Amino acid sequence: MTKDLSVTMTSALHDPSLATLVPGRGGPVVPRAGALTPLAPGEVQLTGGFWHDLQRLNATTIIGHCLAWVDRTGWLSNFDRAAAGTIGGQHNGIEFVDSEVYKLLEAMAWEVGSSSEGELAQTFGLLVNRVAAAQESDGYLHTSFGRQGQPARFSNLEWGHELYCFGHLIQAAVARIRQGHDDLLPAVARRLADFLVVEFGEEGRLAIGGHPEIEVALVEFGRATNTQAYIDLAAVLVERRGRGLLHPIDYGQAYFQDDMPVREATTLRGHSVRALYLSAGAIDVGIERGDAELVDAVEGQYLATLARRTYVTGGMGSHHRDEAFGDDFELPHDRAYAETCAAIGSVMVSWRLLLHSGSARYGDVIERTLLNAVLASPREDGKAFFYSNTLHQRTLGTPPSEDVASPRAQSSMRAPWFDVSCCPTNVARTLASAHLYFATCSDAGIQIHQYGDFTATCSIGGEDLAVEVSTAYPYEGDITVTVTAAPDAPVELALRVPAWAEKTASWSADRPGRTTTLEDGYLRVTGKLEPGTHIVLSLPLTPRVVRPDPRIDDARGQVVIERGPLVLALESVGLPQGVDTECVDIDLNSPIESTPTGARVTLIPRTDSTPAWPYMDQGDMSPGAGGGTPILADLIPYARWANRGPSTMRVTLPVAQNP
Ligand SMILES: [Zn+2]
Repeated sequence: MTKDLSVTMTSALHDPSLATLVPGRGGPVVPRAGALTPLAPGEVQLTGGFWHDLQRLNATTIIGHCLAWVDRTGWLSNFDRAAAGTIGGQHNGIEFVDSEVYKLLEAMAWEVGSSSEGELAQTFGLLVNRVAAAQESDGYLHTSFGRQGQPARFSNLEWGHELYCFGHLIQAAVARIRQGHDDLLPAVARRLADFLVVEFGEEGRLAIGGHPEIEVALVEFGRATNTQAYIDLAAVLVERRGRGLLHPIDYGQAYFQDDMPVREATTLRGHSVRALYLSAGAIDVGIERGDAELVDAVEGQYLATLARRTYVTGGMGSHHRDEAFGDDFELPHDRAYAETCAAIGSVMVSWRLLLHSGSARYGDVIERTLLNAVLASPREDGKAFFYSNTLHQRTLGTPPSEDVASPRAQSSMRAPWFDVSCCPTNVARTLASAHLYFATCSDAGIQIHQYGDFTATCSIGGEDLAVEVSTAYPYEGDITVTVTAAPDAPVELALRVPAWAEKTASWSADRPGRTTTLEDGYLRVTGKLEPGTHIVLSLPLTPRVVRPDPRIDDARGQVVIERGPLVLALESVGLPQGVDTECVDIDLNSPIESTPTGARVTLIPRTDSTPAWPYMDQGDMSPGAGGGTPILADLIPYARWANRGPSTMRVTLPVAQNP
């Protein structure tokens, strides 16, 4: 993996005097205030099972896969040519491919952890050296602009994405700091951020970037380095948006949320990833500045978006044309865009709102979105990804070449890489830090939001409260929490109970004398907890029939089957010969059985007869009506579709009209 990646360390750029900040603790987000406090990498660790396997896949395959692609596409060597002064006319890839190297650095920083040894740590160091060597003397660092033979810096703020790329570089530096390292990458980010404070601050140019991301990065870097100027700059950039500073484009100003001030909007609109990254940054700004109006405004927009502009998987974005949100309830399943990066952006927003409010609702959204939208992207072998995520595939499609980058959304199967390849590296950084979304602490105790095999430790009043969680979730519903350390004083253990299990969940504790309540989406066990106490939470994973709001016209008369936290899908692979996913109805009068990972349903095939004109007078028999012999079919987790060769697939199932 390290072959061809070496470059001489540019020692002039590594100024040891900068290595004075104390590395912060915590994960990707450490707000100044909030209902809940995030845990640091050492405080929460996956120990096995579903999520551990995914994180291993990321460490052993996905990161290396992405690294190989940024290398072979020349996106990485752009930095070498920039450093050498030969990049003019020699830049590989679209303007913002630097960001893929930075997201990969973030993934590696989380994965490398506090270690400085091992192959990945070595590779990380070599990569950082190559990036650092391309930084200009004033702190600017981009391979597409500003050098001889290139467009001037900030000459294309609408589409050039300089600030977007800077944001990802800075987020990688945050990861490095949060893992306890204050070395070259944070130093590079600090020089860049200092440059931006002068260039775009109150006294600088009155401008914003076309793709938000810098805002969320600057706030976190300000938190991680204790530098108010970075947070202030983020606030300036958030407030400037929506005032027409970007040049008009065909998609309209809403595309980059420059149509109205952030605090005046009532829903998310325009390009989904842009809108969600901006929302995450605006929430951070609001929290740092005690600006409740801003936080409330963005929370209101996000809730409106969840209520009216979100797919059942948690995916967001209905338009291929501009990768954007549609109107309320405009959620076509066969044309769903539901970009993987938008799902990740939604997790980012939900996590911030969860920390801020302590509301289980956001833990539910994170669970739904991670399991059904983010995890739909990587193929089971970790070597191909979905960029857009359709919820209804009508034709078999053609497997993309394993050796060529694909257009971003034109494949019915996962592709190894894309011309614009934002999603694979975004998956990598998200998987590498996924455990940090599992638990939080507060003065009262510890809160568990996501389920898997892991350990978590909180310090409460100087004493440790530690738990070990073990479960086969999301495929099985029993979750055992064992207290492994507890303070002498009474504390609270809060376990999120998903909204779908609120009426069916049950629990037991093997030591009496605790108060146990289920309220506001959490099972709360309160009292003096002794090490060795077991609490078993059971979430029945009986398959559920879910009816889309009738205003989602595309799904009217259809249902979705969910099993626990998983959205299920009907895939053509495995269906009896001659049965077509486009010509079946689900019989809801027949039982729906649970299978180890999905559900078994009864389908009534329709005759695949296509009349010359597919519209009939009322009263005439509809095409294919009359049905065939009922068959049993297994639904699988939606996120796992398209892992068995070309297939057709649907998430929404038409309901058989029984006589
Ligand atoms: Zn993407």
